[in-house]
Amino acid sequence: MKITEQTFSSYIFSNYPNDTTHFSQKGHEQVVYFQDETTGLQAIVGIYDTTLGPAVGGLRFFEYQDEREALKDVLRLSRGMTYKAAIAGLDFGGGKAVIMKKKGTTLTEALLRKYGAFIERLGGYYITAPDYNTTMEHMVDIAKSTRHVIGLPVALGGSGDPSEHTAYGVYIAMKASAKQVFGTDNLTGKKIGIAGIGKVGYSLAQLLCQEQAIVYVADICAKRLKAVTDSCKVEVVAAEHLHSWPLDIYAPCALGATLNNTTIPTLSCAAVVGSANNQLADQDRDGKLLLQRGIVYVPDFLANAGGLINAVTELEPSAHHSVKQRIEQLYTICLDVLAKVVNSPRPAQEIAQEMAIARIQSIKNAQVGR
Ligand code: NAD
Repeated sequence: MKITEQTFSSYIFSNYPNDTTHFSQKGHEQVVYFQDETTGLQAIVGIYDTTLGPAVGGLRFFEYQDEREALKDVLRLSRGMTYKAAIAGLDFGGGKAVIMKKKGTTLTEALLRKYGAFIERLGGYYITAPDYNTTMEHMVDIAKSTRHVIGLPVALGGSGDPSEHTAYGVYIAMKASAKQVFGTDNLTGKKIGIAGIGKVGYSLAQLLCQEQAIVYVADICAKRLKAVTDSCKVEVVAAEHLHSWPLDIYAPCALGATLNNTTIPTLSCAAVVGSANNQLADQDRDGKLLLQRGIVYVPDFLANAGGLINAVTELEPSAHHSVKQRIEQLYTICLDVLAKVVNSPRPAQEIAQEMAIARIQSIKNAQVGR
């Protein structure tokens, strides 16, 4: 079943007459709802904008409270993906998909094949990829019924786990923030705290240790901490203390919403640059709070674009050899954002979004002018 923006809006309106949250996020090109009784699949795909190219974005598998919460997530995340692709200079639009998890269920092959068949129906308008609770192995099952999937294992011609590339992008963004704050992008001797030593945090720690930064790490998982302390010289700090530790750069690499009106006043760093998605609990309020505190912030969707830059090479294999250089281009983009923050003091997130929108709009204008 395809739902246009208009029918989608009336669907929401009739089901949730007192909730106007969705309407404030208008502008999506298409929202599609899929369900299949046999496998229990219930999925929503949101396509925010395809001006620059087909929409790319991950598939989440999550136990939402209700459909409304799932819809909200799809609408919010697909918009974020659009900005990420646009600001990173990629010729792709932004989309996102969720499969609504029911208590005690897992992603079976049958369900993933069915999801793939639905994605195939979109004709390449949306290209699916791994995200929260979905893996390369899940993409392999999805690929049995659609061509429009990326994030496959290298052994199957895919681009593999993006985490290393994401970490490299965060590292490059950190260098740009250091250039802005300290006048040099050399991270040797800089005190850098990484909150969350998972796939991205671990690779980031390796890069920073190679450059002889002084690295502090925090995680709630002892196994993850052991893995990193076994392989490089880092100091472990309790997870609840790292954000207020005296640092040059703080890197949130675990969960979203950790920068908020409780944590920001306690930050003791010059810059925040990390991989976690949606780091600001409240974009407007917390972007301004960081600005007021004089803390340089590289927006999350820019700092963590390295993984996407790598993943889309599955769609343009000739770009595969230039992934590293493409990620390194994030340096100039970050400097551009940070310079604009200095020249017209507004939150970095807001400026980066405007730059992404301006790129999309310039193509839209050219299309109109044809
Ligand atoms: P991951 O699950 O491998 O690692 C997350 C780590 O955070 C885990 O080790 C976990 O134990 C730890 N953690 C959870 N709660 C914590 C807390 N309160 N304090 C400290 N540590 C905590 O995930 P990842 O792939 O490394 O991704 C990290 C973040 O970056 C996520 O927000 C993810 O959405 C985002 N991101 C990842 C990629 C990628 O390529 N993997 C790309 C873009 C964005």
